[in-house]
Amino acid sequence: MEKPLTQHIVPGRPPLSLKEYEQVGGYQSVRKVLKEMTPAEVQTLVKDSNLRGRGGAGFNTGLKWSFVPMGDDVPRPKYLVANADEMEPGTFKDRLLLEGNPHQLIEGMIVASYAIQADISYVFLRFAYKLAAQEITKAINEAYEAGYLGKNILGSGYSLEMHLHTGVGRYMCGEETALLNALEGKRANPRAKPPFPQVSGLYGKPTIVNNVETLCCLPHIVNNGAEWFKGLSRNKSEDAGTKLYGVSGKVNKPGCWELPMGVTVRELLEEYAGGMKNGYKFRGALPGGASTDFLVEEHLDVKMDYNSVAAVGSRMGTGTMIVLDDQTCPVGFVQNLQHFFAQESCGFCTPCREGLPWVEKVLGSIDNGTGKQTDLNILDFHTKYLGPGNTFCALAPGAMEPLQSALKYFREDFERHIHEQRCPWRS
Ligand code: NAD
Repeated sequence: MEKPLTQHIVPGRPPLSLKEYEQVGGYQSVRKVLKEMTPAEVQTLVKDSNLRGRGGAGFNTGLKWSFVPMGDDVPRPKYLVANADEMEPGTFKDRLLLEGNPHQLIEGMIVASYAIQADISYVFLRFAYKLAAQEITKAINEAYEAGYLGKNILGSGYSLEMHLHTGVGRYMCGEETALLNALEGKRANPRAKPPFPQVSGLYGKPTIVNNVETLCCLPHIVNNGAEWFKGLSRNKSEDAGTKLYGVSGKVNKPGCWELPMGVTVRELLEEYAGGMKNGYKFRGALPGGASTDFLVEEHLDVKMDYNSVAAVGSRMGTGTMIVLDDQTCPVGFVQNLQHFFAQESCGFCTPCREGLPWVEKVLGSIDNGTGKQTDLNILDFHTKYLGPGNTFCALAPGAMEPLQSALKYFREDFERHIHEQRCPWRS
């Protein structure tokens, strides 16, 4: 199978220089869109390809672009932001692309910028990704020198600035409107949507925020076409392309692989991650980072694509799976995640600011053997109270996903803690 995104990434080797990247076809898509296509044609191509956002939400990329006002009399400058603030627990797929082939990202950003006629673009990078920062800085400089960035790119009349901005290590900045506030130098609180950033984003101007993996798909879609991209997927329909999948936990070969969209959970676990380590049994997995619902044994043959995972009550999210084994306490596992979410809440809206620490505390008391039966009611209540529609952004509803599904699939473990007044995994 073709691996367009990772084909030039060799683990342990520095990324391709600009010259090397050009020798394997790099920046051809920039030449093609600037010389042969109108921005509207690029938008249509990407919409037809069924590329869905790889940051976790799976929104149709071409459709998102189509909300950006076009024409001569629209507010300027327009912005394109690559969301490289990869902080979802268990998620390390964008890091591979950022460190492994930064020119591919820059190429994708130029294509996206041209499609929406952006004037300025930013890579908003996770604070901890130091190597990626070095490689991207180098690649942006090379791209400027070669005339792929800056004024009048390749004599086309189209101009684009690109800058690297590193965050300060807050999960919240992955949320696009909080990211835009951070980029403006403000506290990273989310903004009300609508208006969506496509219309009123950075400094109130039209802005597209796309995930790194999403942007890296673009050069290949431009070079090979929408049908080719759809054909890479096992579904050939709505969930197109390849996907970077990951597995972490007590498996033999944790890792990240580019595979056709629609590979099953079982294939990922058994074939690619080499199965569970000796002495450990599979109990469940969060399919796409921490802010997704558990999948369990009965879901092993579910396809890892947006629609199929949603159909069984979870979300594919980032596609990077965290495995829960039989020797890890599910209560402690979920409490650890809630600690993360409570700490990363921006504190702007009350349910999230007050609710998440309470959830963490209640789980902590169950975990340490001082929980009460009524604590389960409190947790059940919070899964709804902090659910979609009750908070300002998706952070708290996302945090409730592993909790609500753990209460569903591992409820007897919660009850055992309460009845025995101890953690059965600890003694
Ligand atoms: P969302 O569904 O609200 O939005 C996704 C994208 O679609 C946004 O760009 C938004 O502007 C656009 N969109 C949605 N509805 C729209 C509409 N009606 N009109 C125009 N545009 C619209 O999701 P979100 O809050 O941006 O993201 C949540 C996801 O992020 C979760 O799946 C979570 O797993 C993931 N996440 C990923 C990371 C990471 O490190 N990759 C970190 C945190 C969260």
